[in-house]
Amino acid sequence: MSKRKILVTSALPYANGSIHLGHLVEYIQTDIWVRFQKMQGNECHYVCADDTHGTPIMLRAEKEGITPEQLIDRVWHEHKADFDGFHVAFDHYGSTNSNETKEYSQAIYRKLKAENLIEVRSVEQFYDPVKEMFLPDRFIKGECPKCHAKDQYGDNCEACGTTYAPTELINPYSAVSGAQPERRNSDHYFFKLSDPRCQQFLREWTRGGSLQAEAANKMQEWLGAESENKLSDWDISRDAPYFGFEIPDAPGKYFYVWLDAPVGYMGSFKKLCNLRNEDRGARIEPPLDFDEFWKTDSKTELYHFIGKDILYFHALFWPAMLQHAGFRTPTKLFAHGFLTVNGEKMSKSRGTFITAESYLKQGLNPEYLRYYYAAKLNGTMEDLDLNLEDFVAKVNSDLIGKYINIASRCAGFLTKKFDGKVLPLAGNTLSPREEKTESELLEAGDEIARAYEDRDYSRAIRKIMSLADIANQYVNDLKPWELAKLEGQEAKLHLVCSSAMKYFAILTAYLKPILPTLAEQVEKNLFGVQFTWSNLSSLPLEKIQPYQHLMSRVDQKQIDAMIEANKQTLAPATDTHSQVRHAEAQQHAITPIAETIGIDDFSKIDLRVAKIVNAEHVECAEKLLKLTLDIGEEKPRTVFAGIKSAYDPEKLKGRMTVMVANLAPRKMKFGMSEGMVLAASGEAPGLFILSPDDGAQPGMRIK
Ligand SMILES: [Zn+2]
Repeated sequence: MSKRKILVTSALPYANGSIHLGHLVEYIQTDIWVRFQKMQGNECHYVCADDTHGTPIMLRAEKEGITPEQLIDRVWHEHKADFDGFHVAFDHYGSTNSNETKEYSQAIYRKLKAENLIEVRSVEQFYDPVKEMFLPDRFIKGECPKCHAKDQYGDNCEACGTTYAPTELINPYSAVSGAQPERRNSDHYFFKLSDPRCQQFLREWTRGGSLQAEAANKMQEWLGAESENKLSDWDISRDAPYFGFEIPDAPGKYFYVWLDAPVGYMGSFKKLCNLRNEDRGARIEPPLDFDEFWKTDSKTELYHFIGKDILYFHALFWPAMLQHAGFRTPTKLFAHGFLTVNGEKMSKSRGTFITAESYLKQGLNPEYLRYYYAAKLNGTMEDLDLNLEDFVAKVNSDLIGKYINIASRCAGFLTKKFDGKVLPLAGNTLSPREEKTESELLEAGDEIARAYEDRDYSRAIRKIMSLADIANQYVNDLKPWELAKLEGQEAKLHLVCSSAMKYFAILTAYLKPILPTLAEQVEKNLFGVQFTWSNLSSLPLEKIQPYQHLMSRVDQKQIDAMIEANKQTLAPATDTHSQVRHAEAQQHAITPIAETIGIDDFSKIDLRVAKIVNAEHVECAEKLLKLTLDIGEEKPRTVFAGIKSAYDPEKLKGRMTVMVANLAPRKMKFGMSEGMVLAASGEAPGLFILSPDDGAQPGMRIK
C-alpha cells in the first residue's frame, strides 16, 4: 500500500482564555489519530494556531495596558505549554496574526470578489459615541424587554433566558464606556452564500461523504429542499477600531472571524512548509509543498477535527469559500460532542470548569486523561462525560491493574535470573498455549487499526483490554512466581516470562497513539526497540533492561484537590465568554466617588488584618454568615457578614481578610456583631472580600 499524504487540523482556540478539559477532548482526539497515522507509516501533518483577532482581544489588551500583540504572544505561550503538557504534538502551532494567514485571507477575498461573490450592504448597529466604535452584541447591556432584569447582555437575558436583538433592550448602555449607544449605519461586506452557485455546490458536497451521517442529515435540514434557498449571506467585515487584517481596497474595514480564523489552517501549514524548506541543513524529511496539499485537484487528504458547535460554518461557509477561491475542499470533517463533567455542564461554582494547567499542577498524569477520553470517544457527535469517580476506577483497573500488571509481575524474573535475556519466541519451543495467545494478540492488529482509523477509540480500547485479559490469564495460569521456587523449572520460567513480556510489548504498541510517553519509556528503557505497526510479528526483543516503575495509580486526593482549586465562588459565567464578561463588568462606569475627607477622618477608622478562624451559616438568615475573626486579641471576635450569596463558609476558613475593628458593636437578632469585614461590589453581580498580601499577620493595622 502506498503512503498516504494527510493534513490534519483542530479548531483554533481563541486567544482570550485558558485551555480547559473541554477543549482537550478535541486536541487529544486529533493527536491520537495523527500519531496512529504516523505509526502506520503515513505522511501526516498536524497544524493548528491561536485565533487572535477581534474586539474582545483588543479591549482586553487595552484594559491590561498592553498591546494586542503582547497579549496574544503571552496567551500563545500559555496555550502551547498546556498542549505540550498533554502531549498534543502539533507539527506546527501558529497564530492567525501571521503574514501567511494575511496573505491567504486577502487572496481568497480577491478571488471571491472577482467571482462576484462579495457584496457591500449597509447595516444598522449600535455605536458607542464615547469609545467611538461599533459594539458587538456582547458589549451592549440593558434591561431585559421581557422580565425587566437589569444589566442583561445584548443577545440574551440570563434571568429569564429570552433571546433578542440588542436593539430590543430597554435603556441600553455600552459595556465598554457606560455611554448610551446610538444607532448608526455602516457598510458591511458579505460573502454571498445564498448565490445559486454556492447552493448547488453545497448540495453536492454535503452529500459526497465528507460528513458523518448525523452531520449530513443536519446539513440537509439547513439547506432545505431543492427548490428552497435557506442559506443567508455571511457578514465578513467589521469597522475600525478592530484588531485584525484590513480588507484590501476598503480602508477602515477589517475581516471578521470567517475570513481570517479558518484561513489560519492554511497560514499555519504554509509556515510549516516555510520552516521545513528553508535552511534545510541536515534535515532528513523531504521538502513540503503547500500547493500539493491545497490545489483544487490535490491527491492528498485534508481533515478538520471540530466541535459540533462550529459544524454549520465548517460544512457550508468554509467549503463554499475554498471552492470558489480556487482551493481544494476538505476530505472529511470530524465533529465531536461537548464535554460534561459528572453528567453536568462544566461549572465554575462546582469546580468542574477544570483548566488544563490546574490538572497538570496537581501532578496528575496527562496520560490518564488521554486514556479516559479515548475509552469514551467513538467517532460520533455524542457528548462525552468525564465522570471523575469512573475516571479513577477505570484508569486504575485498566492501565495499572491489567496492562502494567503484566510487566510488573514478569520483568523482574527475566532480569534477576536470566540476565534480562528474552527467549526467541518462534518455532517448536512454543507450546500450543503460547502459540494461541501470541496469534490472538497479533491478529487483533488489523481490527484495532480499523477502530483507530474510524476514530472509534473506545472500540480499540475494548479490544486491547480484552487482549490484556488474555495475557494476564496466561500469567495467572502459568504462575511464574511459583515456577521460580521450584527445582528444574528454569526453562519454563524463562519461556513464560519471555512470552508475557512479548505480549506486553505488543499491547504497548497498540496503546502507543494514546499513551505516547509511557510507550516511549517502555521502548527505550525496557526493550531498547521502537515499535511500529508493521514490525509487531517480528519484534527484535532480545534483552530487557531492569524494570522501572512505569505508572502510579490515580489518587482520589489529587482529584479532590483539583476540583477545590477550580472552585470559584463567583457565581455567573460558565461559558467561553466569561472573560469577556468579566472585563465588561469591570469596564462599566463606576458609582460616583464620595465627598473628599482629610487624613484625620480616615485615621478614625481602625482597619485590621483578621484571620477567619471559623465561618458558618446562620439559621434563618438569608444573607448572613457568622464569622469568627482573630485579630491578635485574647478572644476572637464574632462578626455577622452579609456575604452568604458569594461565599461557601468552608472555603473561608483559614483565610485572611480585613475588618473594621473599632466599629461600635451592634446587637443583631442572632447575637452581637463586633465589627465589620470589608467587601467590594458593583452593579454587576458578585461580592468580593479583601485579602492582604502573603505575610500579613492577624492584628496588623492598615493605614
Ligand atoms: Zn429577562
